[in-house]
Amino acid sequence: MTNAALPVAARRVAEMAPYPLADPPPDGDPVIMLAQNESLRPPSPSAIEAAQTAATSAAAYPDADWSDLRRAIADVHALDPTQLIVGAGSMELISAIATAYLDPGAAALTTEHGYLFFRTTTRLAGGRVDLAPEKDRVVDIDQLLAAVRPDTRVVFVANPGNPTGTWLASNEIERLRSALPSHVLLIVDEAYGEFVDGSGAGCLHLVARGDTIVLRTFSKAYGLAGMRVGWGVFPDHVAKEVRKALNPSSVSAPALAAAAAAMRDQDYMRETVALTTTGREAFIASARTLGLSVGGGCANFALVGLPSPGAASALERALRRERVIVRKMDSYGLSACLRVTIADAATMAIATDRLSKVIREGDLR
Ligand SMILES: *Cc1c(COP(=O)(O)O)cnc(C)c1O
Repeated sequence: MTNAALPVAARRVAEMAPYPLADPPPDGDPVIMLAQNESLRPPSPSAIEAAQTAATSAAAYPDADWSDLRRAIADVHALDPTQLIVGAGSMELISAIATAYLDPGAAALTTEHGYLFFRTTTRLAGGRVDLAPEKDRVVDIDQLLAAVRPDTRVVFVANPGNPTGTWLASNEIERLRSALPSHVLLIVDEAYGEFVDGSGAGCLHLVARGDTIVLRTFSKAYGLAGMRVGWGVFPDHVAKEVRKALNPSSVSAPALAAAAAAMRDQDYMRETVALTTTGREAFIASARTLGLSVGGGCANFALVGLPSPGAASALERALRRERVIVRKMDSYGLSACLRVTIADAATMAIATDRLSKVIREGDLR
C-alpha cells in the first residue's frame, strides 16, 4: 500500500539494495550454518557469567564511557584507554567514521572484493565509492594508490580480507599509509586480526601517526557476534569527531561486561584461534581432495572456487538441500566462489561428508 502523503525516502536510500545478509535457512530440520563467519564455539564461560551478572543491573543505562572494557583492552594490547572507542559491533564504528568524515560528494576508496559494509556506509553518508582492483584476490597497494583522487577522504582496507581471507604484512600497510596523501584517513579493519596476531599483520602501531584508525571486533575470535561489540584505536582528534557520530549508549551493559571478561581471558581466545586454524586446514585439505579449488586464507572461513558462477550456485543449492548453508559471493564480484565458515570439528565432519556426497552424485543442478 502506498500513501502519497508520506515523504519518499532520501534518494540515496531509495536507490540502494538491502544489505546482503546470508539467505535465511529453510524451515524445518536444523541446518548447519556456515554462512556468517561466527565462532566455532561459545564465548569464554567468564564472558557468559559476566553478562548474566550485568543483566541484574539492566535498569540502569550502560557506562557511556566503556571504562572497564577500555581498561581491559588497553591492558592486553598495551594501549592508552583514551584512544579506544567502542561500538555496537565494528559495523557501527564503520558507519560513524563514514558519517563523520564523508561530506556528500566526497569519496571513499576500497578494494574490488573488499567488505561490502564499507560501500553501504559510504553511500548512506552521501559519498561516492571508488574501487581499486585486487591482484589474485589480494589487496594491491599500488592499485589503491593509483585510484586516489583529489576528493578521496577515506580508504577502507580489511586485513585480513573478507571474503578473500588474504592478508598483507604490516610493512605493506605501512607502505600504503606513507604513500597516501596525509589528508586521507586510512581505516584498517582487523576483524580477523586475532587469527594472524603474531604473524606480523597487525597495524595497531600505525594509529600513533594521527591519520590511521585500526578496528577490531569481539564478533569473531571472541565468539560474541550476538552481543554486538567492536572497538577501534583512534587518533585523539579523530576520536573526538567519530564519537559525535556515534549513538552514545549503543552497547548494552551485558555486552560490555561480556566483552571485558572475554578480553581478560586471552587463553580461551587463543585456543579458539588454534581450533579454528586446525579446522580450516582440515577442511581445505578435504575440499581439495574432492577436486575443489580452495583459497588458503588465515581467518575463520575458507573461500571455495568453482569453475563457473553456475557451478557455484548449483553447489550452494545442492548443499542447501542437504541442510548445509554456505555463502554465495555474487555481491563481492566473486560469483564463482562460495565462502564456508569453519565450525567445530564434529560439525565440519558432517558438512564435509555432505559436500562429498553432492559432489560424488554430481547433484549440482
Ligand atoms: C565480521 C566483520 C566485521 C565485524 O562486524 P561486527 O559489527 O563487529 O560484528 C567487520 N569487518 C569485517 C571485514 C568483517 O568480516
